[in-house]
Formats: sequence, C-alpha cells, structure tokens
Amino acid sequence: MESVTGASLAQLPDEMFKFILQPVSMPDCAGRLGQLILRGRPAISTPNYVVPTSRGVIPHLSQDNLQKHTNISTVYVPLEDFIEKSHAKAPLYNTPAPNGESPLRQYIGLPDRHLSIFGLRRVPNIPCPAHNTDSSVAISTSVGFRSLEVEQYHEAVRKLKADISTSLPDLINTKVASAKRIEKSADRTRAWLRDFVEDIGEETGLPFFASIPPHETELLSLYLSDLKDEYNSHISGLCVYSPSTVSGLPGALRDIPTICLTDPSSPQAVLAAIHAGVDLLTVPFVTKSSEHGIAFSFTFPGWPQTPNQPLGFDLWSTSHATDLSTLSTNCTCYTCTRHHRAYVHHLLQANEMLAWTLLQIHNFSVIDAFFSAVRQSIKGRTFEDDMRTFSRAYESELPALTGQGPRVRGYQMKSIGRGEPKKNAKAYGKLDEQVQKLSEAESGVASPEGDADYIEAHGGAKKVE
Ligand SMILES: [Zn+2]
Repeated sequence: MESVTGASLAQLPDEMFKFILQPVSMPDCAGRLGQLILRGRPAISTPNYVVPTSRGVIPHLSQDNLQKHTNISTVYVPLEDFIEKSHAKAPLYNTPAPNGESPLRQYIGLPDRHLSIFGLRRVPNIPCPAHNTDSSVAISTSVGFRSLEVEQYHEAVRKLKADISTSLPDLINTKVASAKRIEKSADRTRAWLRDFVEDIGEETGLPFFASIPPHETELLSLYLSDLKDEYNSHISGLCVYSPSTVSGLPGALRDIPTICLTDPSSPQAVLAAIHAGVDLLTVPFVTKSSEHGIAFSFTFPGWPQTPNQPLGFDLWSTSHATDLSTLSTNCTCYTCTRHHRAYVHHLLQANEMLAWTLLQIHNFSVIDAFFSAVRQSIKGRTFEDDMRTFSRAYESELPALTGQGPRVRGYQMKSIGRGEPKKNAKAYGKLDEQVQKLSEAESGVASPEGDADYIEAHGGAKKVE
C-alpha cells in the first residue's frame, strides 16, 4: 500500500522522486520499511546504508569493483572535498556534462546505478577552529581551513545537480553550547533553508532534503513547524545529524525519508538508529575497519546460543598467517570465494593495497547482508527481538584497531600543533644498515687495508702480496 509519497510534498515533475512507506507497525519501535525511487536510478529499499566518499570515490574501490563486487546503492559526496583555495576555479565546475547530466557525477565517474547525496562537509569531519557566521560556513579542505559563502554552496547545488542535495545546517563545533548559540543555530539553519528555496526553487528539478541540526527538538519547534507548514511543498526529505533528532520529529514530517549523516561506532549503533526511524544512514566504520585489517564476521540477528562473539577479527594478527579458511563462514563475496585469511594477512604485512580492496569488498558485502536481514526482520515484525538477540550474540564494540592503515591525509586528522607525533610511519628508510656499514668502513674498523693482517691472523682470507 502506498501510504504517503515524498513527491506529494515535493511536487516534482513527473514524479521524479517518490518515497513509499510500507505499513509495518511495531509497538515501541519507530523502525520502518520504505522504497526510495528516483527516476533513472534503481529503487532503494530502506532502511539502507550510505557510503561516504573521499574526494569522489569510495576508498579502495575502483568503479569496476564497485559495480562488479558490491551492492552499494547510495554514496555521499561532500563539497569540501573538491574546493581547495578558490571556489570559483574548482575543476569540478568545468566538467563537460552533455544533455543536462550532473557535472558532479561526470567528474567523479559515478556509475548510473548509484544514487548521489550531496552535502557540504565530510562524514566524519574535522571540527574547524573558525565559527560559522550569518552568511558563511567554516570548512576544512585538503589544503587547510577556510570559509565558504552560503550563496556559493547554493550555487554548487544548482550547478552540480546531485541526485539529492541537502540544505546547510549551522552545526556547532563545541561539545557544550549555550542556549543562545543553539537558538542562533536554529535561526541560521532556517534562514539558509529560506535562501536555498529562494535561490534554487524548482530550478534543478531534483529533490533536496532539509537539514536539521542535532539539538533537542523542543529548541527547534519554530523551525520544525516552518518545515511542516511553510516549506513542505519544497522539501523531499530530511537530513539529520543524530538519530535522536528523528524521535522528536512531528508526525507531519515522518512521511518523508530521513537520512542521517552520522558516524555510528558499531552495528548496534546502526540498529539503534534504525529503531529510532532513520531510513538511510552513513556507515564510515566500514572503510575504517577495512583500512585497519578488520574483517567483519557478524550476521543479523546472530545466534544467542553462542553469546559474545566478536563482530570481526584482526587480519594483522599472526594467528592468521597460515589460516586457509575464508574470511567469514557462509559469505559469498568475491574475497571469500577466491581467497583465504592467510593471503589477506600476507598482503597486509607486505603493505599491498590489494588487502584493503579485498577487505572493502568483504566488509561491504557483510554490511549489505546485515541491512537486508534488518529489512526482513522489520517486515516480519521481529525487529526488536532480533535486536536483543544480536546484542547477546555479539560483543558491543568492533575489535580494537591494531594494524597500520593507509597514509593519513591532513584533511582526515586534526593537527594538535607543536610536539605532535608523526601520523604516518616512515614509508622508506635510509637503508640504515648500509649507512652503519659505510660509517664503520670509513672509520677503519672493517676497511680492507687496515685490517688485512687482523683477518689473516684470525683464520680469514690470506693476504696476497
Ligand atoms: Zn566475504
């Protein structure tokens, strides 16, 4: 049954965008099933995951591997990845895009079957030292911090034509904020949405989602009532930054899809977000785990008979050096059907980039099966019981990261200033052993002239006159 469609709110041409909610009601659980349909892309069953990209790509997955060996449907692309010093001169804007295609899609070479969601900042991102102002937002580019005019972001949305764009929120960097600052955050987010609607209107013909900053919903009541009454004909969905925001949303805003740009620490945190009613959420922990040699081993809901199983295992561990078993039992991904743990362990030890590719393929296969099982569980109305089973069956956190990952870039890690230890291990040494030998030779300890007699006296080579 089609209960409510996003298109009825968004008034988009020819039902370009549609969100169909399936009627599954569970007491004490806001988790729900839906279908997100955007013309020209395959329908996406929700709840589902969104993969954050880094400078336009999913780390370690080339476009052919992405298509052949994963079921990833949606990617998140942040603007701050592409604009370094000058916003206007960014090559992203000069990409030829014939027939009204999206320059963003052309620039990053995103295959047609993947949905692109566009926002300003990475997930997760580095807090900027500067604050937002009424007309600009602080961002962190690959060459440092800077600010971007709100109008420039709107211009980017208009030019780049991502499948779904999100409006700008005024997010607060500090952990604690005064009531005045929270009020200002709500006011700015509202003002920027108003400008967004005025600047863009129906021009792109593509849906956009209204951002809601992560404050208590009582403090956002004015903004939320505006979303519901004034802007409901313009927005196709909501973009939140904490799953807890969803629980406080008024019923009138629950018929449209909600994406959560968040950094859950574990699959349990993902389940909690789905339980709260999030339809799509980012899962940065998958790439982070792959990069540190962790292979996921969980399934949903798992088996309560064997409690406290690890959620994954560390392939850097030498215990896998001769282990010829697959990464995970019953996994049918490319990695598990062709390789074994010992091989991936060897690749990690040898600093071979292929290790991260194989782990990404496996881990995304596990997370895909996890979401698929969650949807089945909601459909069968057993989601809450299954959540409890999962909590009993698995440890609460992913394994600790012990192994070395790829080189960390400046835009991935905040600098703490002077005296900070090096983020990346030395890739190449100075052949220290050779340097030592050379200095010994120069000092005469092992030079042929100086020690020939010594060598001969000790039963070494004979000196020839
Ligand atoms: Zn696998």
